[in-house]
Amino acid sequence: MRIACPKEIKNHEYRVGLTPASVRELVARGHELIVQSAAGSAIGLSDEQYLAAGAQIVPEAAELFARADMIVKVKEPQPAECALLRPGQILYTYLHLAPDPEQTAALIRSGAICIAYETVTGPGGGLPLLAPMSEVAGRMAVQAGAAHLEKSKGGMGVLLGGVPGVAAAQVVILGAGVVGTHALQMAVGLGARVTVLDKNVDRLRQLDLIFGNRITTLYSSAQSVEEAVLAADLVIGGVLIPGAAAPKLVTRAMVARMKKGAVVVDVAIDQGGCFETSHPTTHAEPTFVVDGVVHYCVANMPGAVARTSTFALNNATIGHALALADKGWRQALRDDVHLRAGLNVAAGQVTYEAVARALGHPY
Ligand code: NAD
Repeated sequence: MRIACPKEIKNHEYRVGLTPASVRELVARGHELIVQSAAGSAIGLSDEQYLAAGAQIVPEAAELFARADMIVKVKEPQPAECALLRPGQILYTYLHLAPDPEQTAALIRSGAICIAYETVTGPGGGLPLLAPMSEVAGRMAVQAGAAHLEKSKGGMGVLLGGVPGVAAAQVVILGAGVVGTHALQMAVGLGARVTVLDKNVDRLRQLDLIFGNRITTLYSSAQSVEEAVLAADLVIGGVLIPGAAAPKLVTRAMVARMKKGAVVVDVAIDQGGCFETSHPTTHAEPTFVVDGVVHYCVANMPGAVARTSTFALNNATIGHALALADKGWRQALRDDVHLRAGLNVAAGQVTYEAVARALGHPY
């Protein structure tokens, strides 16, 4: 199969769909690889590395799209890219179609076979092609929170781990899923006092087994959230109800009563956020202040560490990329119910129920 990896064109997107190591694996299986010039240069992956891995380098996206049987990307195709897709061509990337009627219409028009990373499922449950970005965001949340607790960033001037003789900061984590667990690991590692809340007691049990009395686990209720948040120096929001907007666990009135100079990192902002006071921000201007509380609400946190995120994403995507390339999409999807769950649009039809329902398309 002829497989192509274009340079991402979405604003401030530096990740790349295939690393040289992924290219090498595909080439070793007899596939022909085309990579756009400078596709990975922003994160230190040079054209020379791609050439050494066995790819051809082409300068223009138009040529790459015209020649490829399968396109491997990171972000949803932008309008100029949708216009280059053709019937039967495989598109393997993040799509996030439910809130995006224009992109969905363009993919339907294209006739392409569109497989969305975010809906591919895993044998153990969960969404394994989404998980690496939650791991990155959870770990980053503690870094971002620690930085913004500094006075120069608007915070109260507290060191997360304290020092001997001075108490460490109190970190509260809402949600003990992938984001929450990775945030917890980092916060514990830095010596903070950590409280984690979830409605899923099994998740709390697992964390209790691992971290014992180095953390406090609490069943999430309006009461426990309020008490924890009012005592916190840093609150990290990582709750998710699949397919729904994030529940607003922290009200405007609670924020008004939080410590002045406390920091909120609302990782769940891509689903609307779990603080009533949150609104999405960008890496260029990541924070705003409400009632003396610094809010960090960047909707694409992994983009800031594009190199790490690219490698983490490739680790998760390469297996299915190999299956699609070796078998063709029909057989690969027939053989793997989890990859089949990734099919969102095929040959002019929406093939994913939640997207069809959200946008009023036939299914
Ligand atoms: P996950 O499903 O692994 O975990 C979510 C957890 O929230 C679950 O354990 C669930 O039981 C818990 N939860 C649900 N309702 C709750 C409640 N009322 N109180 C306490 N806990 C509750 O999800 P995840 O992968 O950790 O992702 C969390 C959020 O972070 C998602 O919205 C995801 O899209 C987002 N995210 C954002 C970025 C970013 O850049 N901002 C990056 C990656 C992920």
